[in-house]
Amino acid sequence: MTTKRGAALLNDPELNKGTAFTEAEREALGLRGLLPPRVMTQDEQVARILPGLRARPTPLDQYAYLVSLHDRNVTLFYRLVIEHLEELMPVLYTPTVGQACEEFGRVFRRSRGLYISAEDAGRVRDVLANWSHDDVRMIVVTDGERILGLGDLGANGMGIPIGKLMLYTACAGVSPERCLPITLDVGTDNTLLRESTAYIGLRQPRLRGAAYDALLTEFIDAVQERFPMACLQFEDFGNHNAFTLLEHWRDRICTFNDDIQGTASVTLGGLLSASRLTGIPLRDMRLLFLGAGEAGIGIGDLVVEEMVEEGMALEDARRRCWFVDSRGLVVRSRTDLPAHKQRYAHEHAPVQSLLEAVDSIRPHAIIGVSGQPSTFTPSVLAAMARYHERPIIMALSNPTSKAECTAREAYAGTEGRAVFASGSPFAPVTYKGRTHVPGQGNNAYIFPGVGLGVIVAGASRVTDSMFAAAARTLAAMVSEDDLAVGRIYPSLSHIRRVSHAIAIEVARIAYDQGLARHERPADLPAAVSAAMYEPVYRSLLGHTDHPAG
Ligand code: NAD
Repeated sequence: MTTKRGAALLNDPELNKGTAFTEAEREALGLRGLLPPRVMTQDEQVARILPGLRARPTPLDQYAYLVSLHDRNVTLFYRLVIEHLEELMPVLYTPTVGQACEEFGRVFRRSRGLYISAEDAGRVRDVLANWSHDDVRMIVVTDGERILGLGDLGANGMGIPIGKLMLYTACAGVSPERCLPITLDVGTDNTLLRESTAYIGLRQPRLRGAAYDALLTEFIDAVQERFPMACLQFEDFGNHNAFTLLEHWRDRICTFNDDIQGTASVTLGGLLSASRLTGIPLRDMRLLFLGAGEAGIGIGDLVVEEMVEEGMALEDARRRCWFVDSRGLVVRSRTDLPAHKQRYAHEHAPVQSLLEAVDSIRPHAIIGVSGQPSTFTPSVLAAMARYHERPIIMALSNPTSKAECTAREAYAGTEGRAVFASGSPFAPVTYKGRTHVPGQGNNAYIFPGVGLGVIVAGASRVTDSMFAAAARTLAAMVSEDDLAVGRIYPSLSHIRRVSHAIAIEVARIAYDQGLARHERPADLPAAVSAAMYEPVYRSLLGHTDHPAG
């Protein structure tokens, strides 16, 4: 039901149905003549739009087309995206979203989400008050310092929270009006961007130190006051701030960092299903990470937690995880290591290159989270194939141009024996007559379901045990058919089922651990289903007058 009429209704993307307004609605709501006469079903609208979308010449053009559809008709946008998720996910998120951020000024016409800038210090509360929906449950916030593997994009980073929240809705049915994308514009150290005439953000260097900390604290306090039930997801912050903010806030508010914890969960899920192919259980694996940042350390920590859960001593579990960073193998004798790397600094002679590290450690899996393309060289892959029948190769750096190796390189470099997964999508590869389907270790398997579970239970905290449970649930949903073609993740077309299953487990943990603020429903799976948004038009006349479809 709405008080809006006529053009105001057509201009409201959350209420607009375009040609699908019924005769009765057109009559009652002053729409007659403002729309072409034929009333279409939603199915017909999708069928009309899809060819236009597919005819766009580049992914970025498709992205812009989708954004403009979202600007006009949110329900139709989600109907289209949900029905064609596998095709549209790479357009809506990585890799295309990275380019969209780089060309943010060109792609986004209509402002979306909230910008809170360094100039708002002292009045962040007032900025949050301007948001028109009160019952926000999921906030994704970035300060734009490390957008995907692309670096500091300042306020242009807004494309990331927007895209991520679209995935919460598309993949798990978190209702769009419960979602709020936020960019903290604290300046940018990307001088080229800062000086460009098209740049939309503050033209000043990044805030650092006490001023940055004070703005973040003011922001988080204001969020708690205005949206007390919201989960705050940190996204694409620089390495140092990401770890510090997570450590400080994780036990104080309902928050998580997807780059650290979501990545960890999807990777752990991949390792668990890979072990079904290799026959080597997780606790017996040695892992070698290229990159010891948010993703790498996050994965290491969750893998260790899982090994400990399986009965291993903490120090033994840590010794199974090795890291190579930009200065070589992380070893005890190094004096340049920040706190988060020190727990993985083992006794070992200094080693400079990844190849030497592989030769010395003989890992069962190499996990690329360095943002450095082509670092899984043919020699590295050949060494992995020498030491293991089914070497696990995960080239997780995004976007595609940053992947440590391509799918073809991974299969060709290991005589077709690699169990391969990547961060950005790769097409199936036929090598020596056999077709391999690369898995995509996409965080979208995890965070939407975790968010939905947190919302259903009204969880006050997001815990590592929730991410471990999400990983196990994900791995359990990989079928024998998936494994037969080498795929260690389920098809993206099943993602809403995956999210539903993860949400149940996450909510269950919240209830069991006393973290839930909502009453426990008698039938949790049904409650999760009922909470999932479906992109169907609702009557604006107070009764159902819609034809099905
Ligand atoms: P980060 O900046 O926190 O860490 C990067 C790490 O790589 C640092 O430890 C750095 O020392 C190391 N590094 C840089 N150059 C190197 C080199 N030449 N050799 C070895 N190590 C080197 O970034 P992050 O958040 O950890 O993300 C890293 C990459 O992982 C990004 O490309 C990101 O897109 C990708 N990522 C993928 C997924 C996914 O696929 N699910 C999720 C999160 C992040």
